[in-house]
Amino acid sequence: MSDPGLVPYDPERRMLIDGTLVEAASGKTFDNINPATEEVLGDVADADAEDMRRAIAAARRAFDETSWKTDHAFRARCLIQLQDAIQGELEQFRSELVAEVGTPVMVTSIAQLEAPLADAFAWPAKHIEEFQWERELPKAAPFGVPSRRFVWKEALGVVGSIVPWNYPFEVTANKLAQVLATGNTTVLKPAPDTPWNATRLGRLILERTDIPAGVVNVVTSSDHLVGEELTLDPRVDMISFTGSTVTGKRIMEKGAATLKRVFLELGGKSAMIVLDDADFASVVPSGMSVCMHAGQGCSMQTRMLLPRSRYEEGVELITAAMKQVPYGDPTDPNNMMGPVISAKQRARIEGYIQKGVDEGAKLVVGGGRPAHLPKGWFIEPTLFVDVDNSMTIAREEIFGPVLTVIPYDDDEDAIRIANDSEYGLSGGIFSASNERAMAMARRLRVGSLGVNGGVWYSADSPYGGYKASGVGRQNGIEGFETYLETKAVAIIDN
Ligand code: NAD
Repeated sequence: MSDPGLVPYDPERRMLIDGTLVEAASGKTFDNINPATEEVLGDVADADAEDMRRAIAAARRAFDETSWKTDHAFRARCLIQLQDAIQGELEQFRSELVAEVGTPVMVTSIAQLEAPLADAFAWPAKHIEEFQWERELPKAAPFGVPSRRFVWKEALGVVGSIVPWNYPFEVTANKLAQVLATGNTTVLKPAPDTPWNATRLGRLILERTDIPAGVVNVVTSSDHLVGEELTLDPRVDMISFTGSTVTGKRIMEKGAATLKRVFLELGGKSAMIVLDDADFASVVPSGMSVCMHAGQGCSMQTRMLLPRSRYEEGVELITAAMKQVPYGDPTDPNNMMGPVISAKQRARIEGYIQKGVDEGAKLVVGGGRPAHLPKGWFIEPTLFVDVDNSMTIAREEIFGPVLTVIPYDDDEDAIRIANDSEYGLSGGIFSASNERAMAMARRLRVGSLGVNGGVWYSADSPYGGYKASGVGRQNGIEGFETYLETKAVAIIDN
């Protein structure tokens, strides 16, 4: 049953470049496809390198020639205007996201739309006022020269904001708000699979805010290499990227020639550690949350670590839970899982499932395409047990509704397994003792951690990865400073 709250929407097909909504210079477009039906929803401008260079030029000019970078109060006002404008079209955003992302309508009430909208703009807008943009150091006489010394925080310049398809609005909101709050200008490059939420934002920025022309530009393209222009162009100072680790490495490499600053939020293979004293009946079934939005989230806890002493009991509980995951039509408000984004992603996930079987893991739930959903890129909620942490399905990011269960001997062994990963993004620990769980939390090499169900996500909380899960932080004070330069100034004290 389709959610009666979903509304008709009027997608924006054009890009925002230099304060105007434009087609691609070539006139080309590409199709936007609904992953739940495989039907074409409509189209959008298909930019080439020339369009991208025009957008970069506009962002550069807006940074260099306007007072955007220095007018704090104006920026705060613009951010609130933007939040209000989005709020005014909340239902159009929701319906459009469900259609182009294939995200369940249920997920739009949480991380896909409403949670980031609640404070992604408001928090940085407020932080503009609270932030210490300038401070004075103690008086000193370096090299015998009496001096008054100051530290000024300034905007970095032009930021290339590159966004993936899994949580496109959430990632865009968290990038854009911080990039703008700190006085930068930007070219926003959405993933080819999910362009309309970004073009809608572009239209709102133009029509409903005072954000000056060129401060935000939105470039849609079917060609990833158009995004790569951002990493190569010397007029771009920084890349803020969320997506795969492979692409993150390439961005770092390509950006090295012009010494780009980079913020990279990449993949994960996070562990959910259930300690032997935990309340298994309430904790273990929650592991099925890896199926939320078909597992297309970087901080999903895709490795469940169960103590050998209670292993059979745990496997029984998670097997039952995985069999009950409500999934299917993303417009049905009861479903927590829709399709994956594309045929290519589904094939990739199926390849991992086959590898799991080939390498000797025990497949106990799912593993195939649901027979009752012949259209759309659906895949069954899938559970592997008796997994060894050296297997491919325990090491690589699958980005699908696949949970692996790994037995461990004792607490030391659980910490060893959890940390034995290329990644270090997130994780969870469950125990009857907060003290025991918090002691373990200090030993995990990850950027965020939920203990006994605590939730760390919000605009004031820094988010990012250790190891191959990324470089830098988004959100919070740390994220705010990611987009700033630091200038030390001394004036003679006479
Ligand atoms: P991707 O990392 O290749 O794409 C993300 C964004 O980067 C898109 O906007 C894309 O157009 C752009 N991009 C791609 N190549 C680029 C380049 N050379 N220079 C500049 N921009 C470039 O992700 P994908 O190929 O769509 O997905 C593949 C895998 O990535 C997934 O299976 C998943 O494992 C992972 N992924 C992770 C996240 C995350 O949040 N960590 C998000 C999406 C995908």
